[in-house]
Amino acid sequence: MCEENPSRPKRLRRSSALRVPQVRWAGLATGLFVLGALTSLAGGPSWLSWLLYLVCYAAGGWEPALAGLKALRHKTLDVDLLMIAAAIGAAAIGQVFDGALLIVIFATSGALEAVATQRTEDSVRGLLDVAPETATRVTSSGAEEIVDAAILDVGDLLMIRPGERIGGDGIVVDGASEVDQAHITGEPLPADKARGDEVFAGTVNGTGSLRVRVSRPAAETVIARMVAMVAEASASKARTQLFIEKVEQRYSVGMVVATVALLVVPLLLGADLRSALLRAMTFMIVASPCALVLSTMPPLLAVIANAGRHGVLVKSAVVLEKLATVTHVAFDKTGTLTHGTPRLKQIRSFDGARSEAELLSLAASAEHPSEHPLGRAIVAAAQLAGLPVRQATEFVATPGRGVRARVGADVVDVGAAPAAVDDSGDTAVEVRVNGIAAGVLTLADHARVEAADAVARLRALTGTEPVLLTGDNQRAAASLACGIGIVDVRSGLLPADKVTAVRGLQGDGGRVLLVGDGINDAPAMAAAHVAVAMGRSGSDLALETADAVITRDDLATLPTVLALARRARRVVAANLVIAASFIVVLVAWDLFGHLPLPLGVAGHEGSTILVGLNGLRLLRDRAWTAS
Ligand code: ADP
Ligand code: MG
Repeated sequence: MCEENPSRPKRLRRSSALRVPQVRWAGLATGLFVLGALTSLAGGPSWLSWLLYLVCYAAGGWEPALAGLKALRHKTLDVDLLMIAAAIGAAAIGQVFDGALLIVIFATSGALEAVATQRTEDSVRGLLDVAPETATRVTSSGAEEIVDAAILDVGDLLMIRPGERIGGDGIVVDGASEVDQAHITGEPLPADKARGDEVFAGTVNGTGSLRVRVSRPAAETVIARMVAMVAEASASKARTQLFIEKVEQRYSVGMVVATVALLVVPLLLGADLRSALLRAMTFMIVASPCALVLSTMPPLLAVIANAGRHGVLVKSAVVLEKLATVTHVAFDKTGTLTHGTPRLKQIRSFDGARSEAELLSLAASAEHPSEHPLGRAIVAAAQLAGLPVRQATEFVATPGRGVRARVGADVVDVGAAPAAVDDSGDTAVEVRVNGIAAGVLTLADHARVEAADAVARLRALTGTEPVLLTGDNQRAAASLACGIGIVDVRSGLLPADKVTAVRGLQGDGGRVLLVGDGINDAPAMAAAHVAVAMGRSGSDLALETADAVITRDDLATLPTVLALARRARRVVAANLVIAASFIVVLVAWDLFGHLPLPLGVAGHEGSTILVGLNGLRLLRDRAWTAS
């Protein structure tokens, strides 16, 4: 099959800054400015250089002017509009070169900002491109039909041919292939898939062919959830933007008042119009908060984009600011520090009245509706053994404890065993039938390989001991914690206890980052200063409650994001100092000395560009690898 990978050419195009219209207009304005300057240097006719400068005004200024006028209609004052007004004022008193210079640098800094925003949005929105559109469904008669991927439901059988994009989340029932999952999990190498393995919608099949049984409805696939979160991210970003615009708004109005005063007062005192106008205009330019406005968002957005590329979805800039101030880290165990794919190790029937197979079949039937990793493991074990998994009714889950359901005539409880049944450090769940303990299932899960290193780096970063908060028994918790270097272990916690633990840590001014995946973690996530969910094992509720999601399912990204968030905060602080210093010095110079207009323009716009570029540094891959 010669179908090309559709994401490749798009990505190439994406990297070109020229795609951003602001960049093209800024380039044109710069070209015209240079031509104008050369013309006057070469002693060309002054009407020609004037013409070139004025076209430069139009090329660099029309867009911000239009946006500024639109804003004015909604009774908001745009700093951009003030810049344009200053440039026109400059031309009016014959300083067309200075005005054009202002326009050129102004357009350039605008273009820089646009590129930064574009890059950020692209990084996150790249996810949308990989959402599958159609799938090949195999009907019960064995025929194949092409259907809209959005209508796929649990139980549908899909045929995946070589090179095809997989249409839904599901389990391989036949065939073998390697699948490129980079978009979903960030794994650079294709993963081998065979019977029993899980595949994800939006990933790309390699050279083999697969039959996949859909395991999640289209709206709940991992990719669909990510897309929903992207939408959420842009909404919350807008709120931050709104706040900044509000501050900018007041400042701008004050600035206009000051400018008018600076013009009128000297005139009343008998100064000449030209010099009063020049000073007022210079003031308006150097006092305008362009650099201040550009101090905050670009570094934060750059880190959000960088993190997105490396498998961490940070939902908003506010979240990033919070991540930078974290003092304590608390982890959930199952699915967070462990893979969350436990395997059934042992079945013990208590009274011998039921065979182990019967016990497992009963437990699996009760667990079938459960989203919990333990529940899924029990169902998988029963299915693998070919045991019947019956339809349960009256299903109730108690997060952090277990499930209860009616299976046939029996009420079956599956949940935390009252005491540790052995000292292996495994998780034990008890099966009760009609209130009587019938047996115990033992399940073992593995710690993630990168967990120990991530814990050590987080300890070094925060200077506090990471904490383990788990609903599992003390022995299982201690055995895992010991292996990865956590000493503060709190076990047997119900969801509400996790909240209490988080509040306790926050009691004396601590700011807790909670990392979790389960429904049982959601209340504690909401109580924490900031919460991160594991993308792959994460329940919908956890993904929704969390402020950031580790889509790549790699704990090592956590300390990196924390370090980068701190770095972004330092860059923001440095930017604010740079921007404020320039404003103070240039304003003082203009008010108390004589600041030439071109110097004012260069200083003001120079600081804007400096600040913009400073933020963009965090977009580079090196910023990630060095953190
Ligand atoms: P963690 O906090 O480590 O993620 P949970 O709070 O989800 O763990 O679960 C705590 C304990 O409650 C588990 O170790 C298990 O004994 C029991 N439990 C919770 N949900 C289930 C379930 N669906 N089936 C069986 N046991 C469960
Ligand atoms: Mg968990």
